Amino acid sequence: MQQKVLIIEDTPASMSVMRKLITKAGLKPICTSSLFEAKHIFAESAPEEYLCAVVNYSLPDAPSGQAIDFSIESFLPTIVITDSLDDETRIIILKKNIVDYIPKENAQVYQYLTRLLARLDKNKKIGVLVVDDSRVHRSAMTSLLRRHNFITFEAPEAESGIKVLHSNSNIKLAIIDENMPGMSGLQMISELRKTYSEEDLGIIGISADTNSGLSARFIKSGANDYLYKPYNHEEFFCRIMQNVERLENIETIRRVANSDYLTGLPNRRHFFTRVEAIQKTQPKEQSLAIIDIDHFKNINDTYGHDCGDYSLKQLAKLVAEYFSDYTAARFGGEEFCVYFSNIPHTEALQVMEKFRLALEQKQLVFEKQKINCTVSIGLTSITKGGVNGMIRIADNHLYSAKNNGRNQVVTD
Ligand code: GH3
Ligand code: MG
Ligand code: MG
Repeated sequence: MQQKVLIIEDTPASMSVMRKLITKAGLKPICTSSLFEAKHIFAESAPEEYLCAVVNYSLPDAPSGQAIDFSIESFLPTIVITDSLDDETRIIILKKNIVDYIPKENAQVYQYLTRLLARLDKNKKIGVLVVDDSRVHRSAMTSLLRRHNFITFEAPEAESGIKVLHSNSNIKLAIIDENMPGMSGLQMISELRKTYSEEDLGIIGISADTNSGLSARFIKSGANDYLYKPYNHEEFFCRIMQNVERLENIETIRRVANSDYLTGLPNRRHFFTRVEAIQKTQPKEQSLAIIDIDHFKNINDTYGHDCGDYSLKQLAKLVAEYFSDYTAARFGGEEFCVYFSNIPHTEALQVMEKFRLALEQKQLVFEKQKINCTVSIGLTSITKGGVNGMIRIADNHLYSAKNNGRNQVVTD
């Protein structure tokens, strides 16, 4: 369901810009121009339909932040926009439990709002663990994190913190206090780095001790960042955001490096990495198939290269659908490869046959042109030459399938 964003803003120009950017972000703007109207509309809808609220600090019927209080009391993550930002107003705003404030200084600020909205949405899937022996500090941090929609976890000491991490794979960031009974923060961080790489888990060390070069020791023990207590909320979030975004960038690079740009399927390199990882678990049975489109050159020559690309994407969808329980990749050109582990050869053959038939019966339509596409498949379960040996044998079977008239599976 499309999530809503409640806007409370009395300036029409600003409302118009925000309505557009919120719509563009795939969200549904609910536009109100006064506190009275906002209360009325909000009372008629379910709070969980809302991602957040964007609220002007000063409105004709709420001149000094009363609309912000309403939004916070309604449990909406609240972003404040202001026309002027003198120090006094800034301090008043920051005392409230808001997500962030945006002064309307120039057009750039609206870009920041777009980024913030995307962040609030993504944060819903990201777990953050807070490890601190002080319950007060722990709850202060988790309540700040929840305000930004993060899923929060907490632990009063290192050992239980490590257990929480092991059993919740959605935790991407850990905030770890230095002074704790038992294992210290530094010890916990170096322990964690034995299992979690910097690409898998961000760590922020936190301490009230400012005198002992602790920040450098945190980083050297494997933390990505550190924070001194007491911290202000803005600083806390800047650190959190930076670390979460760093992990997301790494994730993007990983995804791009491992997938085929045209079809989005895993690429050849990723295929080998995945198969090697599975082979380490010593699977009882293994099979490997190479799928090659029949007379694909004809499709390109007859209908054009765009139609060829379209057909490859359609075929990739079918590959992803039929082999979601196995390891499938685009191997290059019009060739795909599938690896099966721990299923009998006869079953792999059945799955391949089913796939071949489904494609034969499927009609692709590109710019009103109807295209039929078939594949030849070589399948093997002879594992003695390793994965490269399996590819060679499957390729020989594929060659036979082509020579025997195409649109068929040949196996051992
Ligand atoms: P066969 O049945 O013997 O496999 O015949 P074929 O025409 O499918 O095989 P051939 O190897 O002669 O031609 C493969 C064609 O696939 C040639 C190449 O231009 C085309 N091709 C490879 N990659 C792409 C791609 O990414 N997009 C498009 N449109 N065509 C591609
Ligand atoms: Mg071909
Ligand atoms: Mg080929």
